[in-house]
Amino acid sequence: MKKGKTKIVATLGPATSSYETIKKLINAGTSMFRLNTSHGTADDHLGYLENIRKASSDAGCYIPVMVDLQGPKIRVGNLPDSVKIKKGQTVILQHGEYEKESDIIPVDYAGIAEDVKSGDKILLDDGKVGLRVTSVSDNIVYTEVIYGDEIRPRKGINLPGATASLDAVTDRDKNFIEFAVKNKVDYIAQSFVREARDVIYAKACIKMAGGDIPIIAKIEKPQAVQNLDEIIDEADGIMVARGDLGIEMSPAEVPIIQKEIIAKTIKQRKVCIVATQMLESMIEKPIPTRAEASDIANAIMDGTDAVMLSGETAMGKYPVEAVTMMREIADNTEKCEFCLSNLNLDINEHYELSPQAIANAAVKMAQDLHAKAILAFSHTGYTPRLLAKLRPSVPVIAISDQEKTCRKLNLYWGITPSHKEWDTVLDTNILKEIDKYIFENTSFKKDERIIIIGSIPKLITGRTNFIRVHRIGAENEQNKKCG
Ligand code: PEP
Repeated sequence: MKKGKTKIVATLGPATSSYETIKKLINAGTSMFRLNTSHGTADDHLGYLENIRKASSDAGCYIPVMVDLQGPKIRVGNLPDSVKIKKGQTVILQHGEYEKESDIIPVDYAGIAEDVKSGDKILLDDGKVGLRVTSVSDNIVYTEVIYGDEIRPRKGINLPGATASLDAVTDRDKNFIEFAVKNKVDYIAQSFVREARDVIYAKACIKMAGGDIPIIAKIEKPQAVQNLDEIIDEADGIMVARGDLGIEMSPAEVPIIQKEIIAKTIKQRKVCIVATQMLESMIEKPIPTRAEASDIANAIMDGTDAVMLSGETAMGKYPVEAVTMMREIADNTEKCEFCLSNLNLDINEHYELSPQAIANAAVKMAQDLHAKAILAFSHTGYTPRLLAKLRPSVPVIAISDQEKTCRKLNLYWGITPSHKEWDTVLDTNILKEIDKYIFENTSFKKDERIIIIGSIPKLITGRTNFIRVHRIGAENEQNKKCG
């Protein structure tokens, strides 16, 4: 199975939902699966989830699952046919059902006439159609077409900068939150977040459903970019959702916003995913464009933990090839010392001083002593998460007594999780057991060094408070000499 430091998120869909294909995607290097609830029913997603669980258990690895909530997405209503519209034409939008022989385009959002004003832009079908509001009266929105195409039923509508009256979590989302809690998924992605309050509300919904699932806030609206610091503070992680972001703002702004989002997310020590169109051409073709390869490498150089595939794996012709190619590009980028040494690791050091100091020291010691790895014992995953943000040059093996911690950690840069019930007192015997574990589970050899961090006297529980340079096999030698 291919593993790398940068993690790969693959969206599942009809093209990839079978057990056999999921296994191939894991072998090619998938680190986490995304279930996109904008499509499919809860039963479809339950089937995907069961196949993921079985395939990852058979592969002997910890693959997390993220349920991506559709969020407050506005759509065109049920038109009987597609409607062709041309530049300069007047298009009328109104909430409600389609009425026969009417030239009004129905919209599924009751607040549309309250949320827009004269001069605002309205974009349809991923920005393929652009409208400018000319007036609003009696709950009817009159617009002029800036650029036209066909309008088809159920296509998405974006109101850049104006969706204030939409609920942050819809009824459909609440049903999928219940699904996520019931089925113990690892992450929930929240779409169309506008401000920190939206994330707080989603957290409350998760709590009401009886769960405690980390939230990845998707940054895809101009308001979210404005409120970025507060959103990062509330969320557990961030996704640069470039699809909708590039519709709601100019695509020309996306590369710089991506860099800003990643830098701020690293600073607050949260996990980051860069998403959308990373290998778009591989939906149809077996090899990517050079620009796509560069895009993935640049996101890694910006410092993202993970890169994501959407249509490429959900409905593309070459899903396994896309993951394989992404892994290859990521592996090549990680090998480039120049690229990673230019990474700006500006980390907020103002809280949790001791664990952070131990994590800093572990990374420095691993480098100075040419250690092969850092072995981090962790119950909740807190210390491995700190290590990931420091981009250590060696692999971090995170050993946890909790399988759910192992799964969550698999999304973080450079972390290889391993499950072991090891809540025991650190003494000579346990050091011998650690050696045995290393010989059985890694390719490290006798006399090579590793850095161990954790908490004593117990190894897994409690706050990280110790660091040890460990020479593999030294404990057995010591015993022989004494005997
Ligand atoms: C995006 O808009 O880039 C995104 C990841 O969201 P979705 O796939 O739900 O449109």
